[in-house]
Amino acid sequence: MSALRPRNQLETHDVANQPPPFEDVNLFTSDVALQAAVAAAGGGRHAERLSDFGARAGSAEIAAWATQANENRPQLKVFDRYGQRIDEVEFHPAYHGLLALGVEAGISSAAWSGVAAGHVLHTALEFLMAQAEPSVCCPLTMTSGAPAALTFQPDVAATWKPKILAARYDPSSQPMQGKSGVTIGMAMTEKQGGSDVRANTTRAVKRDGGYALTGHKWFCSAPMSDAFLTLAQTDRGLTCFLAPRWMPDGERNAIHLMRLKDKLGDRANASAEIEYHGAYAQIVGDEGRGVRTIIEMVHHTRLDCILAPAAYMRQALANALWHAAHRTAFQKKLIDQPLMRSVLADMAIESESATALTFRIARSFDESANESAAAFARIATPIGKYWINKRVVNLAYEAMEVHGGAGYIEDGAMTRIYRQSPLNSIWEGSGNVICLDILRAIQRDPHSAQELVAELEGSRGANRWLDRAVDDVKARLASPYDEAFARRLAEMMALALQGAVLVRNAPSFVADAFCATRLREHPGFSYGAMAAKVDVDALIERAMPRK
Ligand SMILES: Cc1cc2nc3c(=O)[nH]c(=O)nc-3n(C[C@H](O)[C@H](O)[C@H](O)COP(=O)(O)OP(=O)(O)OC[C@H]3O[C@@H](n4cnc5c(N)ncnc54)[C@H](O)[C@@H]3O)c2cc1C
Repeated sequence: MSALRPRNQLETHDVANQPPPFEDVNLFTSDVALQAAVAAAGGGRHAERLSDFGARAGSAEIAAWATQANENRPQLKVFDRYGQRIDEVEFHPAYHGLLALGVEAGISSAAWSGVAAGHVLHTALEFLMAQAEPSVCCPLTMTSGAPAALTFQPDVAATWKPKILAARYDPSSQPMQGKSGVTIGMAMTEKQGGSDVRANTTRAVKRDGGYALTGHKWFCSAPMSDAFLTLAQTDRGLTCFLAPRWMPDGERNAIHLMRLKDKLGDRANASAEIEYHGAYAQIVGDEGRGVRTIIEMVHHTRLDCILAPAAYMRQALANALWHAAHRTAFQKKLIDQPLMRSVLADMAIESESATALTFRIARSFDESANESAAAFARIATPIGKYWINKRVVNLAYEAMEVHGGAGYIEDGAMTRIYRQSPLNSIWEGSGNVICLDILRAIQRDPHSAQELVAELEGSRGANRWLDRAVDDVKARLASPYDEAFARRLAEMMALALQGAVLVRNAPSFVADAFCATRLREHPGFSYGAMAAKVDVDALIERAMPRK
């Protein structure tokens, strides 16, 4: 039997000039820049696993699950039929299917599983998952980041870590002792202050071999998680705790879900407002050292806040290229129109530079036993988080515009990508807070700035615009630090770093195009407004998804 197809000869017109669905695409093998970045970061050994996952993540079936999960948003069930509190969130089976796919692929465990290049593997798997459906990345990311904080409390880690690393998705709501695998959430933000967590008012008092928490959290995403890393005040100051959803004896912990947020994007995932009513929790790390403890987790989740916008860029670009390759206007395919080619090539430069930087940073996590690599990761992570998130929203919009009116309609992928795209800039440290963190790294850990400069110097001589950008960064680092200038500094560092990574690992037509269009005097303010001559044909050929 030939392939099934819809009826396209209608009573009033023939349906023509519409692209075929962009489905059943292997998201790994169709992405040359991703494969190159993964290999350069030491992840080549995982290519087969990534290819298998890329095929599944890019399949039509998974795309259908993503649509279902977004169309059937999670529902809060506070009480059961008898009026007893249950504080559950009901998800569509498609959401469970997607989360199971991510957990069982190893996204939340690979970084700690002991395989070589584990962080690169985690990053690559989640890069693919974020394109299949990004809303499950929130619980995957938090679960993956949790072991970094739990390290401060070996007895708690001994109980929870094996179930985090089990790579098993068990959606049942019950004490963790009876589950084959767990997911972990994170609840820091309160109404009176999110960035400034020291303003938290949730209180913790010692009780029954643990602590009792009383207070609220204004944001608590993935509230179906099995436990939440959370912050609360003791007499010694802000302290980190792990609050399980269930007590070991089978009673529900007193964590009340007050309501679910109505969000711009990330709609298939639930984000709740919660209250602790004397909720049981175990301490993690030293009393009064809560920020020091949880920041280890945040350092890791920030890596995921870099990979996610890089993945959205790739997805937006791939969809735009696909559409332009199949749609005709004025007797010519869109992809053959010179002005459209400039737009697509410029977006391809941006997408590849984001991917390359993401995996360079992921590599430094794998190498973090080495002091220099850890110092590099310390400063490169906020630089990447700030910059790639600043660049993604406009790229998502531009890719939407490539689709014309169809891009703005909910039937396709572009509206979801667009709504999702600002999220990772806001959570885990909003833009300004991240720039101030870069200043903090420079001031408190000069080694991190030295490692950044060493990385930049390693590219010296490859491109004159890059050499100049590196000199500018060094000059700026030598002058006093001004908070008001922190965004400018972050931008300069990010661009120089992207250039340095590309000249080392990407073909010269990509690196040269990046330097010529981003590091010269007059970069264009919108995609396609490139003053420099770049190899548009090679850029488009490289970025075009291969089915
Ligand atoms: C969809 C979603 C899910 C989330 N999930 C969670 C979760 O699971 N757990 C959790 O704990 N939190 C979560 N958050 C909360 C998020 O982490 C916070 O919103 C974020 O950290 C900012 O805190 P805030 O909202 O209190 O803003 P504020 O701290 O009030 O900041 C507002 C703005 O001021 C800027 N700013 C702050 N300080 C300075 C300064 N010194 N100088 C200059 N500018 C400054 C910030 O960059 C920001 O742009 C989530 C948020 C969203 C949108």
